[in-house]
Amino acid sequence: MSNTQYPLQLDSDTVRDLGTLALDRAVARVAGFETAPASRHDPEEQLARLRARLAEEPSEGPGDLGQLLDLFDQAADQGVDTAGPGYLAYIPAGGLAVSAIAEMLAQLTNRFTGVTDLAPALVAMEQGVLRWLCQQFGLPTGSGGLLTTGGSMATLSALVAARHQRLGEPFADGTLYVTGHTHHSVAKAARIAGLPARSVRVVPTDDRLAMDPAAARRMIAEDRARGLRPFLITGTAGTTNTGTVDPLSEIARLAAAEELWFHVDAAYGGGFVLTERGRTMLAGCAEADSIAFDPHKSLFLPYGTGALLVRDPAVLHAAHSGEASYLQDLADHHGLPDYGDLGPELTRDFRGLRVWLPLRLHGVRAFRRELDEKLDLARLVHRELSADPGLEVPWEPELSVVVFRLRDAGDTRNQRLLREINQGRKVFLSSTRIDGRFFLRLCVLSHRTHERHVRVALDEIRSAIARVGSDG
Ligand SMILES: *Cc1c(COP(=O)(O)O)cnc(C)c1O
Repeated sequence: MSNTQYPLQLDSDTVRDLGTLALDRAVARVAGFETAPASRHDPEEQLARLRARLAEEPSEGPGDLGQLLDLFDQAADQGVDTAGPGYLAYIPAGGLAVSAIAEMLAQLTNRFTGVTDLAPALVAMEQGVLRWLCQQFGLPTGSGGLLTTGGSMATLSALVAARHQRLGEPFADGTLYVTGHTHHSVAKAARIAGLPARSVRVVPTDDRLAMDPAAARRMIAEDRARGLRPFLITGTAGTTNTGTVDPLSEIARLAAAEELWFHVDAAYGGGFVLTERGRTMLAGCAEADSIAFDPHKSLFLPYGTGALLVRDPAVLHAAHSGEASYLQDLADHHGLPDYGDLGPELTRDFRGLRVWLPLRLHGVRAFRRELDEKLDLARLVHRELSADPGLEVPWEPELSVVVFRLRDAGDTRNQRLLREINQGRKVFLSSTRIDGRFFLRLCVLSHRTHERHVRVALDEIRSAIARVGSDG
């Protein structure tokens, strides 16, 4: 195909040829996930050469797809293989192949779903996904929301809506309540929403690292006495640090009594609501005013799909809609929303299909089983690591995160342990700090991670411990 001139409007055969070439590469990569190194960092000199090639200006004339895809492959090989079974760091998801196929279809179809009038049935499709998600969390009829690029964007839209509805203007005296384990995206959203840093109030946590609602109640009362206006409280359905679920029902009661907006951050843990154990733990979500949930975490989708679910979509609309004369031709469509009026984006990619298709093709049971397996695997990891007297493994996993550290060693030796584990390149773990102390952190969530991979991780951890030594 070298030096072929490609008109921007390709004929069908060329689309098929180029598509097949790219798809063959993708299929080979996916087939290689099982055996590929969990991470790869080429020597700096090599990497510098690759970076230089990637940053070259595009040529005036046509390129060669094979060569261009070679370059992509080299670039994609560098760093951490976040799609592979050995990826146990941060929050893995893997990335369902069916969702990627849906995405290709959606992009080639390229319909506009920022307003309903231009694609009423596709918007209905996306709305169906949102309705189903709302039902899973127990939100009532009339609830809704929108698919976002991730939890951070969902949180931002929720916070802006809550601020708009509860505080009006000016709002610098508003306060919201988080814990030291709440994801930083909440404080970031508050900052972007124009709230001063002091408005984010950090409620103490208990032994389980969950919010202490009694302490929250006291802080709210104190803040009111100081003339501030408490307006929102966050509960996390699975913290990023330890997968801890805040006492959501208690926080919901507190929010109701204090007339605060109740936001649940279920970005990581939300998918577990499909399992029986998860449904019990996350029951309090049913009382939420808004829920941020990431299908690109616990529904195993490729990166780029979050969801904001709200009890009352009119509140989202009030905060995000805009009047524009160039949109005057658009008609109303049977109660379907214009997504452009529910969040910051007008033009957006059609996100519905990449959630809709995998749910229907695989069936919900496939997701439920996979998530149940992850809960079991985290318990297995906890059991096995707890059996080592040299390790401190303080918290039984509520969802699928286990944190641990060498018992009689300082942070430096624990940091060395993490490096030793990851340098084997069979698995990749991350770390965090809890009460100022360094902990290694293992999160099982990818649909590609099964018991055999977790056993490999345990072997890697044990042999790294033997190398690092557990005393001193
Ligand atoms: C990942 C995560 C977020 C942020 O979501 P993004 O999709 O990364 O923007 C927020 N809260 C929790 C608990 C998370 O795990």
